[in-house]
Formats: sequence, C-alpha cells, structure tokens
Amino acid sequence: MADGVLIVTGGSRGIGAATSRLAAASGYAVVINYASDAATAGSLVSEIVAAGGRAAAVQADIGVEADVVRLFEEADQLGPLRGLVNNAGIVDLAARVDAMSFDRLRRMFDVNALGPIVCSREAVRRMSTGSGGQGGAIVNVSSASAKLGSPGKYVDYAAAKAAVEGFTVGLALEVIGEGIRVNGVRPGIIDTDIHASGGDPDRVVRVAGQLPMKRVGLPEEVAQAILWLLSDASSYTTGAILDVSGGRAVAP
Ligand code: NAP
Repeated sequence: MADGVLIVTGGSRGIGAATSRLAAASGYAVVINYASDAATAGSLVSEIVAAGGRAAAVQADIGVEADVVRLFEEADQLGPLRGLVNNAGIVDLAARVDAMSFDRLRRMFDVNALGPIVCSREAVRRMSTGSGGQGGAIVNVSSASAKLGSPGKYVDYAAAKAAVEGFTVGLALEVIGEGIRVNGVRPGIIDTDIHASGGDPDRVVRVAGQLPMKRVGLPEEVAQAILWLLSDASSYTTGAILDVSGGRAVAP
C-alpha cells in the first residue's frame, strides 16, 4: 500500500476523479484539488471516506501562483507529500490561431503549462531527498494533441501540452538523484466533460468509430496508467511519456 499524501490537481471530475478514487484505494491520503465546483469535489471526498479512504478537497486555481502555494500548504497539514498528479487542464472553443486573443493564449498556458511547472516546483521542494524529503513521484497529464497539434481546434492547448512534455523530460533528469521520478501520460480521446467545455459535447460519440479501437477511452483506463507511474512498480521509469490513446496516432 502507498503511504503519504498525493495531490491530484483537477481531481474532482473526469480523469482526475478516477485517479483520486484509485489512489485512495491504494492507500494515499488524496488532496483533491478543484477550481470552482465545490459540491462535486465534496461528494467525491465523501465517497472515498465512506469506502474507508482518506481524502480532502482544496479549491485552488492552478493558473494562479498564490493559489498553488496555498494548495501545497494545506496539503502539508495532512502529512508528508509523496506524489503529485498534474492533471488539471482546460480547452477553449475551437478556433484558428489567427482568431485567438492574447487573453485566451495566456490563460491556456497559465493553467496547462505554467500551473504544472509551479506545482512541480512546490512538490520538489517537499519531496526531494536533497532537502530532507522522502522522495516521490510526479505524473504530468499531457495529451495526444501534443504530437498531433490539433489544427483548427486548439493549437494553443496542444502547444501548452507539448511544453509540459519537454518539462517532464528536463525535470526528470534534474531530480534523478533526489528520489523523485517524473513521468507523463498522453491520453487520446477520453469520455469526460472536457469536450463539452470546448463546445463539442458530442465529440466522444461522433469520433468513436474512427478510432483504432472503435471506441474512446475511459477515465479509469488513464488512471490505471497514472497509478502505475506513481508506484514502485515503475521504479526504473523516469522521463517517459506513456501513450494511453488506444493506438491513436493521427487525428480525427
Ligand atoms: P474535465 O472532465 O474537464 O475535469 C477538469 C478538472 O480540472 C475538474 O476537476 C476541474 O475542476 C479542474 N480544473 C479546471 N480548471 C482548473 C484550474 N484552473 N485549476 C484547478 N483545477 C481546474 O477534464 P478531463 O477530461 O478529465 O481532463 C483531465 C486532464 O486530461 C487535462 O489535463 C486534459 O487536458 C487531459 N486530457 C484529456 C483528454 C480527454 O479526452 N478528456 C484527452 C487528453 C488529455 P472544477 O470542476 O471545479 O472546474
């Protein structure tokens, strides 16, 4: 069984919620971060506690540094940090780059790229054996779009995810002697609410038949990969990005 505290950003819905459930069942005390939907985060905490697990919900906007710092300080109250899943992510409405406002671009990078980097900074400060920590693991949730580019839809999102992938490799090597492994997962199209927030609620149904497995993925299938990368079972894996895309290599 895992011990210590695990922070899952955006842990209240979708892939994050599946990860929080599995992590709690694996023994972690899970800090479920969310942005605005306190009720959904609260009901997931209740569900985990009722099942005998440990969890707490903490509101924080991952795109705001002061919120991230507060999130980690609140997590400190629960015990030593042993893991971080940088899962919170956003898309915006489909658009070409020549129609994107600077505000949109800034928000996309604040939440999807800078957020995971600042969260990782806070995690390394706590987990590094070089500064008295017990070691741990970081898993960054990228996207198949980092390779595909998502033209005409959200190139900004794809570019922010590509930044996270470069960061994953660099940080992994930076802390390789400090008891911390850093990896990523690269999900394909997964059945969550994110598609509706991008203005395309029917995407999951529409594209399923065009995918290699003739279906989209489930949040639980991504969570299993994340939990493996967090666990000692992946002890020789660092700086890796694992495709969890059902074989999808090119768009639809
Ligand atoms: P989702 O269903 O839309 O859930 C998003 C979660 O993130 C919610 O818990 C939400 O909290 C939280 N969140 C949103 N903005 C936040 C912010 N600024 N600060 C903190 N938390 C925030 O998303 P998902 O589909 O599970 O996606 C999870 C990750 O997987 C994202 O990084 C996404 O890019 C990536 N991904 C998803 C897919 C896919 O097809 N679903 C594919 C590839 C990659 P509230 O409920 O409070 O807003």
